[in-house]
Formats: sequence, C-alpha cells, structure tokens
Amino acid sequence: MLAGLFPELAESHGIIESALLELPSVAGIENPGGRYGKFWIKADHALPIAGSIKARGGIHEVLEFAESLARRHGLPGPRGDYLELASPAARSIFSQHEISVGSTGNLGLSIGIMAAALGFRATVHMSAEAKQWKKDRLRRHGVTVLEYSGDYSEAVEAGRVRASADPYTYFVDDEQSRLLFSGYGVAAFRLRAQLEELAIAVDAEHPLFVYLPCGVGGAPAGVTFGLKHIFGDAVHCFFVEPTASPCFLAQMQNPDWAGITVYDVGLDNATHADGLAVPAASQLAIEEMRPLLAGIATTSDDTLFADLYWLHVQENIRIEPSAAAAFSGPRMLLGGEIGQAYLRRHGLRPGMHRANHILWTTGGLFVPDDEYADFLERGRTVAQATEAGFSSASSIAV
Ligand SMILES: *Cc1c(COP(=O)(O)O)cnc(C)c1O
Repeated sequence: MLAGLFPELAESHGIIESALLELPSVAGIENPGGRYGKFWIKADHALPIAGSIKARGGIHEVLEFAESLARRHGLPGPRGDYLELASPAARSIFSQHEISVGSTGNLGLSIGIMAAALGFRATVHMSAEAKQWKKDRLRRHGVTVLEYSGDYSEAVEAGRVRASADPYTYFVDDEQSRLLFSGYGVAAFRLRAQLEELAIAVDAEHPLFVYLPCGVGGAPAGVTFGLKHIFGDAVHCFFVEPTASPCFLAQMQNPDWAGITVYDVGLDNATHADGLAVPAASQLAIEEMRPLLAGIATTSDDTLFADLYWLHVQENIRIEPSAAAAFSGPRMLLGGEIGQAYLRRHGLRPGMHRANHILWTTGGLFVPDDEYADFLERGRTVAQATEAGFSSASSIAV
C-alpha cells in the first residue's frame, strides 16, 4: 500500500529504511590504526517521505490508527487485503476524521504527510522555532498548520486540548505515545539485518556504540529500547542534546522533579537545532531509559554547524543542524575524561579496536538549498575561527 501511495517507495517495495554508511573518520578524533574501531552513519537524514527519523514513529502511528479505524468499519474485508486501506471506501471513512500533532517541524511533516495521503484531515500545531519551509511543505500537502509563538510544550498542549474536545480528532501525543515509541524501535531490527549483512559482530568482544540526537526523547529512546532488547550489554547508547535545551539530561539528573524544564535549570531553550528545541522530556522515554541509557552529552550550536560543514566537505552528505549533534557523541566518549572513565568502568578499553560506532544522522533530506547554504556558511566560519572548533562541546554525564 505504501509503495502505491508514494512513488519514492516503489524500489524498496514500500519499506521505509535508511542505509548504514561507513564513515572513514570523525572530526576531532584521532584514530590511527583504528584504535577505536570503525565509524558508521545510520542515514536517517535521507529517510523518504518525512526526511527525518520521524518517518519511523510518525508513519507507524498514523498507520496503526488508520488500521484500527478501518477495522471498526469492516475493512479490510474477508480477503484481508491491506490495499483496501487506500481504497475510495477507506478514504471516505478517513475523511471524516482528523489527525493532529504538536511539532517543532519534523514530526508534523511525518504525521501530516502520511495522514493527508490516506485522506485524513490533518492539523499540525507548530511551535515558534519551526522553520518556514517545513510549514510551507505541509501546506502544499493540504495540511492545516497552526502557528504558536510559544515553545514545543505549549504547542503540544494546545493540540492536546483542542483534540480532546472533538471525538473525531485523533491526537498524536509525542510526550507519551507508545505507538511512536514502538515505530522507532523497529529501527533496531532493521539495523541488526544491516550489521549482519556487513558481517559486523556485536557482542562482549565487539562493543557497539550508538550516538543519537535527542529532543523530547521519544525517537532516541525507541531506538535504544530496540537495540538493548536485541544486543543487551554489548550496545552502549548515548544521547546528545544542545547546551541550551538538555531536557533529557535535566530530567535524568533530577528524578524527583517530574516535568522539570530547561528553564528550571537556568537555560533558555534557544538553539538552531529545531528538532531538539524541547524544554521538557517525555516521561515515557525517561522511564524506559533509566535502566538502559549509557549517558548524555551536550553540544553547542557552533559545534553543530561545524560538524554539518565538515560532513558536507568530507562526505558530501547533507544533514540539518539537529542531526549534527550525533558527532559530538564519540568525541565526548573517546576524547574526554568522563568518557574514558565510562570505558574503564565497563572494561571496554582493551577491546576498543574491535568496536563499532554508529552516528545516527536524524534529518536533512528536504532542507532547501538556500537554507543549507546558510548552514554551510556558518559552519565554515566556525571551523575557521577556531582550530579547536570540534572540542567545544561542553559536557558529558554518565
Ligand atoms: C525529532 C528529532 C530528533 C529527536 O527526536 P525526539 O523524539 O524529539 O527526541 C532528532 N533529530 C531530528 C532531526 C529530529 O527531527
């Protein structure tokens, strides 16, 4: 059904997946003789339809809602043909319902585009940092975009309140959705198959390190949940957040203060990483990550732009600033005292040459050319201004 709805999925027969790409080096990391092992990119920046990791969770939740709604109306019929979910009969059912979501941009793209493709009415409640081009793109798909001057938590709350007053509106709640979470989790099974294909072992002798940009926490936590389920102690997952909005870090460090925001710890949530500009973490993600997460690093906007520029020059790969956060993960782990202490504590130092590191580049496919040119310009300026441009990431907590 997906292959029929989206021509870009014809080749993959409707499977939405990204490549695992080898990365010969990472800016700021000396790796002579491969003493730290190998580096890879999990290329979610190129995920079709949504152009970000949100394709995983968002599309899954819309499909699951559509399926349950269709079933209540007797679809798919006796032959159980899921193509019927894209039939005129299904569309006429879906058109009576609305799907809505609060977003800083990318979740809205994923939910809005999928919902509209099935014939739902779709509304996205956009927080202040949402980029204009993301709103424009949604409107071209027939999605209603409501704009708020407040932050992400406010946009989510506004959407939640509006939806609760209307029985025909289904609200995708990024702060507590198990359907989003499980959609992200599927990535782990897909990654396992890719690792097997490349004959990359993951076990006590061959540790796997995964670095994930974190906003509200749902996407990186879903992926981590899946990876820990499959690989257990052999995988070490680290989140990376902007220094101005480390909501996951704040909540992890303050377990007794549920709902703590980055404002509560004196920060302003002002970052160009729009996908990560979230003042308070998902409590669902927090609960699931307490026993599983290895650590959290934070990084400055300057560093995000420098890494974005570096990746463009070295690999000709186009990402958005949020996705560049992944690059600060390995620098923190391998280049800092606290990171080294983590390796020592887990007995990992002797086997690091057998390790694999996956940097999860979470978004970028649809960034317009003029916007991307501005990102590159800023990254070039930062990289030239300081030799140590790549060591300015500021902290890690494990
Ligand atoms: C949403 C997003 C993230 C983080 O996902 P959360 O579920 O908000 O933690 C990371 N990178 C990009 C590009 C995103 O859009």
